[in-house]
Amino acid sequence: MFNRDDNRSAAAGQQEEYTGEWECSQCHAKTPHTLRFKPIADRPVYCKTCYRAKKEEMNR
Ligand SMILES: [Zn+2]
Repeated sequence: MFNRDDNRSAAAGQQEEYTGEWECSQCHAKTPHTLRFKPIADRPVYCKTCYRAKKEEMNR
């Protein structure tokens, strides 16, 4: 498997990232990962699984 940290350091500086532990708005699972956008109370945060499902839904 590839080390994902490699990709992250390559992209560092290009994009602001927000690291922390979020709760998924859909399944309420704790999602400790990096967000590419600033977490706003107004905006739902999804875990990777739900985010992907949402994205696929929107593409239909
Ligand atoms: Zn979820």
